[in-house]
Amino acid sequence: MANNKRIYSGKAKDIYETDQAGVLLMVYKNQATAGNGAKKEEIAGKGVLNQAITNKIFTYLAQNGIPTHLIKDLGQGQELVKQLTMFPLEVVCRNYAAGSLVKRLGVEKGSPIKGGMVEYFYKRDDLNDPFVNEANIYFLEAANPEQLKVINDLTLAVNQLLIQLFHKAGLRLVDFKLEFGETADGEIVLADEFSPDNARLWDEKTLASFDKDIFRNDQGNIIPFYQEVLNRLVEVLG
Ligand code: ADP
Ligand code: UDP
Repeated sequence: MANNKRIYSGKAKDIYETDQAGVLLMVYKNQATAGNGAKKEEIAGKGVLNQAITNKIFTYLAQNGIPTHLIKDLGQGQELVKQLTMFPLEVVCRNYAAGSLVKRLGVEKGSPIKGGMVEYFYKRDDLNDPFVNEANIYFLEAANPEQLKVINDLTLAVNQLLIQLFHKAGLRLVDFKLEFGETADGEIVLADEFSPDNARLWDEKTLASFDKDIFRNDQGNIIPFYQEVLNRLVEVLG
């Protein structure tokens, strides 16, 4: 890593070039942020856990027909991924109402959403990632209708696979955020990460949060909860 050039430093990950064209090294950070960076903290162990959880999930999704950017798990919070041209969209899928949906629509937290609901947010930190509809996305040229259909279909397919997977782990998949990118030859691929930083996971029995809401709501150390998510996934997936 020491010889690799860092080409991006984000809120949760650093990205480095590698010797191989089209291959990036992603290094997960311990930094936790909420409210678009308004609340910020270093949490020892978070990067390693989030990369390990992402690796489990992306490997499972790839085995079930979802194209992903993951090339190689390097462990210790690091992985090699395919370099993509990213769609500037945060693709949120919800199975139960929580977070911004509860505030926006005034519905009760935990209300079930049958079949899952896909929403799009425009990735622009300076605008606080605003909610956008399809017409907005085409106007912004963030994706074209064919690309958005693929993104929507892949997101719903991921949702069905992960509802079942987390159910086996005794967790309710409340909502999550995905990001997609495109390869040089136009294939649309799942990118970024899937971790308790970008998903809400509630224990099926107690409905307790096992995700970043613990940090957002100042409810203590997230690490034992993220570790438990990984342990349960290892139990289910091996
Ligand atoms: P942010 O940019 O929101 O602060 P991160 O710290 O997680 O988030 O940074 C990771 C960045 O890398 C994100 O901007 C994400 O869109 C981008 N990214 C994820 N996967 C890929 C990929 N395969 N190729 C290129 N960029 C990627
Ligand atoms: N999410 C994310 N990054 C964002 C915004 C949301 O990963 O910038 C995830 C969040 O963790 C949750 C889902 O997307 O699992 C839905 O988030 P919501 O729109 O409810 O926003 P929040 O109130 O969590 O900011």
